[in-house]
Amino acid sequence: MKIGVLALQGDFDAHRKRLEELGAEVVLVKKPEQLDDIAGLVIPGGESSTFLNLLGKEGFAKLKGFVRMKPTFGTCAGAILLANEVENPKQVGLGALDITIRRNAYGRQVDSSIREGQFLHDPIEMVFIRAPKIERLGKDVEVVATEGRDPVMVRKGNTLAATFHPELSDDSRIHQYFLDLVTNGKH
Ligand code: GLN
Repeated sequence: MKIGVLALQGDFDAHRKRLEELGAEVVLVKKPEQLDDIAGLVIPGGESSTFLNLLGKEGFAKLKGFVRMKPTFGTCAGAILLANEVENPKQVGLGALDITIRRNAYGRQVDSSIREGQFLHDPIEMVFIRAPKIERLGKDVEVVATEGRDPVMVRKGNTLAATFHPELSDDSRIHQYFLDLVTNGKH
């Protein structure tokens, strides 16, 4: 099973390592046509506005088509890219998830933090770095993980988004969950 990790910028190598540890064959995606060759895609953290610049018009259109069809997991900036409504400031999204997400929502004093949240009702470490906040959940968007009262990982069909960085914790449950989604499809 070939899994792509979008490798234009940001935190892609930690995802690659984790996915390989779990037995996936990883393709670092740098060109739009590489999307034709993979069963699922991880869009890593980084800077969502920079991703948009680097993708360009053609890359954005191709990625938009991909995320509609195939399992995709966006973390942090990747989650921002998948949303259909982005605030602070407003920014285009791929529209794969009907959510409103607010960039850099925790303010400067908590630029980054490690907190304990709940993933499928079990405790899990969550690393937040200049994290966004999911402010609105559309119909049929399911909450998979929470931190305090906030939804921090959501899913609709084959699309998964987390506002934290599971690749930076020493715990493979979240990547395994995504690989199971790629293997088993929507359920
Ligand atoms: N603050 C970044 C953005 O708005 C996201 C941060 C991250 O991916 N760690 O795009």
